[in-house]
Amino acid sequence: MRRKLGRNDRCWCGSGLKYKRCHMHRETQEPVSIWQATKEHKKAFSTKDCLAPASMKIDCSKIFVKAHTVPRSSLQHIACNGHVYSFIPSLENIIKYKGRLQPELIGISRASTFNGFCSVHDSKIFSKIENQPFQGSQEQCFLLAYRALAREIYTKKALFSSSDIRRQADRGKPLERQLAIQYMNALIDTGASAGLRDNEFYKKIYDNVLLSEDFNNVRAFIIELDSAPPVMCSAGIFPEQDFAGNQLQNIVDLNMTPHLLNFASFYSGDHGLVVFTWLPESDPTCRPFIDSLRALSSDRMTDALIRFFFEFSENLHICPRWWESLADDKKNTLIDRLASSADPILARNPGCIAEDGFRFDNWPISNLKPVGF
Ligand SMILES: [Zn+2]
Ligand SMILES: [Zn+2]
Repeated sequence: MRRKLGRNDRCWCGSGLKYKRCHMHRETQEPVSIWQATKEHKKAFSTKDCLAPASMKIDCSKIFVKAHTVPRSSLQHIACNGHVYSFIPSLENIIKYKGRLQPELIGISRASTFNGFCSVHDSKIFSKIENQPFQGSQEQCFLLAYRALAREIYTKKALFSSSDIRRQADRGKPLERQLAIQYMNALIDTGASAGLRDNEFYKKIYDNVLLSEDFNNVRAFIIELDSAPPVMCSAGIFPEQDFAGNQLQNIVDLNMTPHLLNFASFYSGDHGLVVFTWLPESDPTCRPFIDSLRALSSDRMTDALIRFFFEFSENLHICPRWWESLADDKKNTLIDRLASSADPILARNPGCIAEDGFRFDNWPISNLKPVGF
């Protein structure tokens, strides 16, 4: 028979605290107010933390300008009255929409921003993509990827530091709810810590490339479009499957470092762009992934990209006219993709980005350009 948990034993929830200081009598504890929880959550996601390589940190500024992961000038091309639709994973929204986030209109000065670089390093590191036209050089492709990777690290650190407040969410609730909430928290924390560890592994490699200024090994696949894509994004992910539904790597094994693929979609000033970037370490997954995209007929490529963007990134910014023109079943299937990818319990469906019969759009493609491979 199992012994009952004593007052001085470590609590069952994994907090590391003694039971008496944690879950003992939790059902009668004062619940955390939404106001307090929201404040803590916001604080975690607005921490100022410059992610420049360690050897550059000596020049860090105390000033942080919220850095755009999709350039503001790009967002302007798809905005209506200065607004785009974005998904904001704030605590209020997660509660309001019961975890199934809905797009909300936000001003482009706020869209896609994060506090991941101080003002000195934001302008120094990214000047070749912020102040020069995008010409698809290996350096420019790399910088897009570097920023996407930094954002992933920033977001996972924030998720991690909101762990305490998430662990308090079961105060005043019966034991059954406490178990469910703490189980969910454990999954979120395990996922965030494995993701952070893997992203930090790549950050060291990317830092070395940045500092060496040798971009010869950078791989990219550039899709040039006649006009601005109505969905703009920037993210770094570990692709599990290709566009034909084939398994590429097993990311469930937390002892392995999965291969990293970064992507961004934006507007260059005279044409639209979707850019995938990776380094040679990730060839075994990224090459077949891109091959499966290139194998699609050009009239099915846009929908494949849209499925992919919504499946893998919540850092999405959408042209209001485009979104509002979609029928409800199309909006719902895209929102479902986003919700299922944010749920730590649900595994991704097999073939999650393979053809699903939905037709969204057909962006005229002017060029497909492999770079460095
Ligand atoms: Zn506890
Ligand atoms: Zn800095």
